[in-house]
Amino acid sequence: MAVTTEMAVESRPGAAPAPAPAVSVVAPCFNEIEGLEVFYRRCTSACRAAGGTSYEIVLVDDGSSDGTWPAIEALAAADGHVVGLRLLRNHGHQLASTAGLAAAMGERILLIDADLQDPPELLADMMRLMDEGADVVYGLRTDRAGESWFKRATASAFYRLLSWLADAPIPRDSGDFRLMTRTVVDAFLLMPEHHRFIRGMVSWIGGRQVALPYARAARHAGTTKYPLRRMVRLAVDAVTSFSIRPLRVATWTGLGFALLALVMFAYTLVQWARGHVIDGWTSLMAATTLFSGVQLIVLGIFGEYLGRLVQETKNRPLFLVAGVRRGQQFHSVPIEFSRLPPSEQQAFRLAWRDGALDGSAPPAARR
Ligand code: UDP
Ligand code: MG
Repeated sequence: MAVTTEMAVESRPGAAPAPAPAVSVVAPCFNEIEGLEVFYRRCTSACRAAGGTSYEIVLVDDGSSDGTWPAIEALAAADGHVVGLRLLRNHGHQLASTAGLAAAMGERILLIDADLQDPPELLADMMRLMDEGADVVYGLRTDRAGESWFKRATASAFYRLLSWLADAPIPRDSGDFRLMTRTVVDAFLLMPEHHRFIRGMVSWIGGRQVALPYARAARHAGTTKYPLRRMVRLAVDAVTSFSIRPLRVATWTGLGFALLALVMFAYTLVQWARGHVIDGWTSLMAATTLFSGVQLIVLGIFGEYLGRLVQETKNRPLFLVAGVRRGQQFHSVPIEFSRLPPSEQQAFRLAWRDGALDGSAPPAARR
């Protein structure tokens, strides 16, 4: 193991507590076996280039079925900089990223996809911008190689719609690829919502958020895990969690159509008074379908918000962790981990790092 001596010194009894790593790289991995090794190597050299040996790489296995977890375990066993986090099942990109952020202990945290579409080599530039005072440095996509015309067009239309709708300024054409300070990540971890749209939530936190333009590469290996269905779901999550404007639009649409209905009603009354009773199957059908269509859409908008309300009120844990792998050790993680405040999560992170415990809970956090 590359850092055995370093770690042994750090965890010697009576020694001053080891400082947190300067940077954590957090990557959600769902069936990423093909590219994982390359990703690990590129991250490692990016971290070393950016700031020496004080770093960790948190790889989150989001319920993969292709051997991603054994591969992560092998990396963790061979390199003390690697932290493997295994979720109990597939929670999706946004929650897996959240879990990774909760497990990271760095002073600065880089969130990045494991498929190498976002180059880890940008870390050095991001660190520099953060040295100059940024709280968040987010990647701004200037080019999206290897993505279909359809994906680019829908993404572009979506970002425009979102920036019109949302109350917080959400940068266009940015993904979740970003470097954040500890403070920003702790603030993020305090947000309890299940339907997460990370880029928007981080933007909502505020502070100095700086863009770093880059060309987005094609996937290194494997296929996208974001089929159209998931993209639409993320888009609706984004809109509903950052704006209630659609509800207002629904009200105004309803009002508009109610006015139209009044005009039509007046028209039919007048026609009736003048004795022109129209045998109007066509107009009747047109009006009925039009009005019920509008009603259903408005109800649908309503339902999107209501459904989310129902799910949020259940207040289930955000994610469930099967365990954490560091070096030769596998630590089980208490089921309430996702609910703990950042300071209590830190007690666990320290325990995993220092190998202080065999079991689940450090004394401070045990209840
Ligand atoms: N991912 C995940 N859980 C999922 C889907 C995706 O952890 O349920 C990870 C995936 O392994 C990758 C990142 O999220 O590291 C982004 O996914 P993907 O590349 O498929 O999305 P795209 O770049 O096509 O939008
Ligand atoms: Mg990708």
